[in-house]
Amino acid sequence: MLLDVRDLQVEFHTREGVAKAVNGVSYSVDAGETLAVLGESGSGKSVTAQAVMGILDTPPGHITGGQILFEGRDLLPLKEDRRRKVRGAEMAMIFQDALSSLNPVLTVGDQLGEMFTVHRGMSRKDAKAKAVELMDRVRIPAAAERVNQYPHQFSGGMRQRIMIAMAMALEPKLIIADEPTTALDVTVQAQVMELLAELQREYNMGLILITHDLGVVADVADKIAVMYAGRIVETAPVDDIYRAPAHPYTRGLLDSIPRLDQKGRELYAIKGLPPNLLAIPPGCAFHPRCPQAREVCRTDVPPLYEVDPRRRSACHFWKETLDGPR
Ligand code: SF4
Ligand code: MG
Repeated sequence: MLLDVRDLQVEFHTREGVAKAVNGVSYSVDAGETLAVLGESGSGKSVTAQAVMGILDTPPGHITGGQILFEGRDLLPLKEDRRRKVRGAEMAMIFQDALSSLNPVLTVGDQLGEMFTVHRGMSRKDAKAKAVELMDRVRIPAAAERVNQYPHQFSGGMRQRIMIAMAMALEPKLIIADEPTTALDVTVQAQVMELLAELQREYNMGLILITHDLGVVADVADKIAVMYAGRIVETAPVDDIYRAPAHPYTRGLLDSIPRLDQKGRELYAIKGLPPNLLAIPPGCAFHPRCPQAREVCRTDVPPLYEVDPRRRSACHFWKETLDGPR
């Protein structure tokens, strides 16, 4: 197993109290595999990823439990200098907002080249050649000329390709992409997603795609973990989730995807808002928003029930949801 996150716990200490941002999350990704982590903002999906990357454990965030095994070795006890080497060389992250992740006063060639001068000790000239090669690989047209341009001279989609090139530069084993296409329009979204999937296959990398939009990951993910209020509520192979979700929250997310065959129909939206992490509802955290909630849901936290060997749901009534009308 490439990455194995086990029972991760992350807390945020705020003036109002302690927020449990991640509460016992476990997931895994193998080489060549794509895991989509799905959820609304505040579900803990980004925080979990930041913990994996080792860019989280500074106040107010604290990792208070669990393990993050990378190729079998727990990363959490590592000192920051060791951790920094893992980050970049072995795992890399792509963020939503390329413009604020890139340095506006350096050419993209200099920024890409820096990966090779700093981490690989290359000369500036060789690093520049590598930068052009990378830009070619992420299909930026006229790379040899554009390597000397600044981030603002590129479109949003092209900038996101540059971010992918940066992440790929040292050929990491794992890439985590946090809402990589959210800021882009729909056609560009699909192209960028395709590029990521293609590079992932070519290099046999593990890929974690973090998104609030089940629609964008359908074609590229192998499996999905759905998060709500700091926990995983459903995990399954992607096709199973689309065929029949086993958790009412997943069903709500599925029903909120616009569908071409249902144009004109009013789009479903899950009622209410995700909970305040300082006041997570007792029992099933989803119960105030769940159309299927019963009395027991208010008091008993549902465990992750095994639906089948590849699939789990944290709903007391998963069977009903699974068999319910589509
Ligand atoms: Fe809904 Fe109850 Fe299932 Fe939670 S446990 S998702 S409230 S039916
Ligand atoms: Mg986020």
